[in-house]
Amino acid sequence: MENQIRHRLVLIPPPLQGHITPMLQLATILHSKGFSITIAHTHFNSPNPSNHPNFNFLPFFDGLSNTQITSKNFVDIASTLNIKCVSSLKETLVHYITKLANENHGEKIACIIYDGFLSFIDSLAKELKLPSIVFRTTSATNLLTYHVCLQLQSKDSKSRDLVPELDLLRFKDLPLFNLTNQYDFLQSIGKTLSITPLGVIFNTVESLEDSSLNQLQKLYKANLFPIGPLHMIANDANNSSILQENDNCISWLNYNKPRKSVLYVSLGSIASWEEKELTEVACGLVNSRQNFLWVIRPESISDVSAWLESLPEDVKVGVAERGCVVKWAPQSEVLAHKAVGGFWSHCGWNSTLESLCEGVPIICQPSFGDQRVNARLLSHVWKVGLEWCNAIERDEIERVVRRLMVNSEGEMMRQRATELKHEIGIAVRGSSCDALNGLVKYILSLNA
Ligand code: UDP
Repeated sequence: MENQIRHRLVLIPPPLQGHITPMLQLATILHSKGFSITIAHTHFNSPNPSNHPNFNFLPFFDGLSNTQITSKNFVDIASTLNIKCVSSLKETLVHYITKLANENHGEKIACIIYDGFLSFIDSLAKELKLPSIVFRTTSATNLLTYHVCLQLQSKDSKSRDLVPELDLLRFKDLPLFNLTNQYDFLQSIGKTLSITPLGVIFNTVESLEDSSLNQLQKLYKANLFPIGPLHMIANDANNSSILQENDNCISWLNYNKPRKSVLYVSLGSIASWEEKELTEVACGLVNSRQNFLWVIRPESISDVSAWLESLPEDVKVGVAERGCVVKWAPQSEVLAHKAVGGFWSHCGWNSTLESLCEGVPIICQPSFGDQRVNARLLSHVWKVGLEWCNAIERDEIERVVRRLMVNSEGEMMRQRATELKHEIGIAVRGSSCDALNGLVKYILSLNA
């Protein structure tokens, strides 16, 4: 778009790490394609503007509290956000539209790109007469599960039964399985899913999810743009972490760690172990006699040093000899490190993609929402993950860690993960690149 005006896009993420990161990656990519970028965001968990000097930031008031957003019930989080943000975002956008027109020579917003979690923005954009595109930060398969759940609402099914039309997913893998408020949610998501968006952006790779994408294409008349993995395409050194990263763990990885010898352990930004489980995890990791880099966020335990000190002497020594414990790691860099050979993960979609892109196999310990879908894809569809839902007990942990890091089963997954890494590399230059060019053309056509 050289020598042409830069069209302005307003991108709107919800205040959750796993959603802010891919939205900022998308923003970086679209900026590199010649668009001006404004990020509209809540005050709560706001991104740091100084890390993204090329973007404008537009905060809006939310009245959110930590407890509302760190709930493990994603249905509650979605409902809260879709109530609390409505009027304030509208007011902020109306004001911004006037400001752009008055101060930027009549500049207009070319398109709103909003996270699918904030479904109210579809009608808000219509009200403001702005084109909008929805960005789905979970897998395409996860989105498809909601459509299938709506169709299956009345059927009685057992948890281990396979869900019709969803390759290899069982009822117990569905995000809404066993959720007490699932019917309310299905009603509201039913309304959202019945909205026909103009376009849907996915942080996914066509070849990983072609069956789900094809099914979604039949359901939506919209243009689908599978342009992931965004972190690879954005190739962005700018930090979007809400928590401060601990870079010392990279020096620790660099120091005397044989290739593929380290297990990286992290449950992302929301899921966590309880304190008594942490002790079992520490014992299991030490007993496995593997090196490990372990993220324990401050919400899990306020004083990690004191807790480590309180461990039995042999475990304390084992952690010091084989482990590195941090509050937050530069995860993409960690997974790309040659010393890392496995990932014990909650299977958030970003973690899943980051691991696949580096050819690192996973011990899958999903806890809620889309994590169960991703875990099933990893273990049974792509065959690079060990499904693990056993009790958090030291002997079980020792066993599963050795299965991934030492046994031939883990080695086969590592090989398969290397093949997938290669496949994804090809898609980045192929199908994802084509979809991205299609997206750019599409946005320009909305304003032609
Ligand atoms: N992450 C990180 N450092 C950590 C743990 C996580 O940078 O110590 C990042 C990770 O790279 C990913 C995001 O946080 O991009 C977590 O997103 P995901 O979708 O995996 O899970 P969520 O936090 O949304 O459950």
